[in-house]
Amino acid sequence: DLDQRQHNFSAGPGALPTEVLEEVRAELPVYPGVGASVMEISHRSPAYSEIHERAASRMRGLLGMGDDWHVLFLQGGASMQFHQVPLNFLPDDGSADYIDTGAWSAKAIKEAEIVGAGRNAGPRVAASSRDDDYTYIPGADAWDLNDGAAYLHFTSNNTIYGTQFAAEPEAAAPLVCDASSDFLSRPLDVDRYGLIYAGAQKNIGPAGVTAVLVRDDFLERRHADLPTMLDYGTHAAKIFNTPPVFAVYLVDKVLGWIEANGGLAGMVERNQGKADALYGAIDASDFYRGTVRPDSRSQMNVCFRLPSEELEARFVKEAKGAGLLALKGHRSVGGVRASIYNAIEPASVTALVDFMGRFEAANG
Ligand code: PLP
Repeated sequence: DLDQRQHNFSAGPGALPTEVLEEVRAELPVYPGVGASVMEISHRSPAYSEIHERAASRMRGLLGMGDDWHVLFLQGGASMQFHQVPLNFLPDDGSADYIDTGAWSAKAIKEAEIVGAGRNAGPRVAASSRDDDYTYIPGADAWDLNDGAAYLHFTSNNTIYGTQFAAEPEAAAPLVCDASSDFLSRPLDVDRYGLIYAGAQKNIGPAGVTAVLVRDDFLERRHADLPTMLDYGTHAAKIFNTPPVFAVYLVDKVLGWIEANGGLAGMVERNQGKADALYGAIDASDFYRGTVRPDSRSQMNVCFRLPSEELEARFVKEAKGAGLLALKGHRSVGGVRASIYNAIEPASVTALVDFMGRFEAANG
């Protein structure tokens, strides 16, 4: 039953809005006007075309993008994009800049190296925070940018370490962004980007679909003779093969939910309130300790430590007993991580902050 749903702080796949799940449940056996479930209809049917087009147009509308932006719903996860981006856009001779702010950035760099090995090209690491366990976003004064780079790749939010760019990097090259874990949580200065990608499963839907937004003039710079499925042009031209129909259907519902909740301005207000409450509780206590530099804090993934690993394990276990799910930090970092994506209700954060107070009183 929906009233059995608990406070879900999962990093990914993350929580979906309860209102959306209710709507989907009502429509699951019979999509209105179709006489079958949305999972049972052709991806060439008018009903599905309408869903697909509406999702794309909602995404453009929320981000303030013009018709020169293609909205693609691809498979293979954000991990496929780590390879597909350089395959399409790393030049035959030259480089692309990468900012290394965590494990996901490092994976993107590795794939660019693989592509570059077959060309006289490669990624240039323009800045990195690896020296301090990725606990901060390098300041712009430490970036070594190449104005002639094909693109500048960055990870806007680092899901594992809990850091986030406060704003877009200033660069001459077009930006390419892995926005998987903060996509549609705030507005973007879209004119600065050539391509934005995000696995849906954190802020905008279920696993199984990756949103890729690519601007037409940037798309035109891609290599020729790419494998058909890995050529962005294939998917920009038309729906080429069977898309993940059910996942796109859900994304469309979540985008409708964002619109109904004030659009991206509404999300900023909602997310700021939740992050302030949680970081406020951490800062007010000597028992809890934030793990990243305050100026680099993520509004999506809040990471903190307790005085011992034993207390951390007990915290996560007792929180689960109190209806607060999935608070264990990533296995490479440890500690506690509360993922507070768009869909997390402010009341869930209040419940977590209350639990933190009780736990500290009993164990501090
Ligand atoms: N990029 C970021 C920032 C992520 O958080 C993740 C997954 O957590 C990925 C990429 C990988 O995404 P996928 O599992 O869709 O390949």
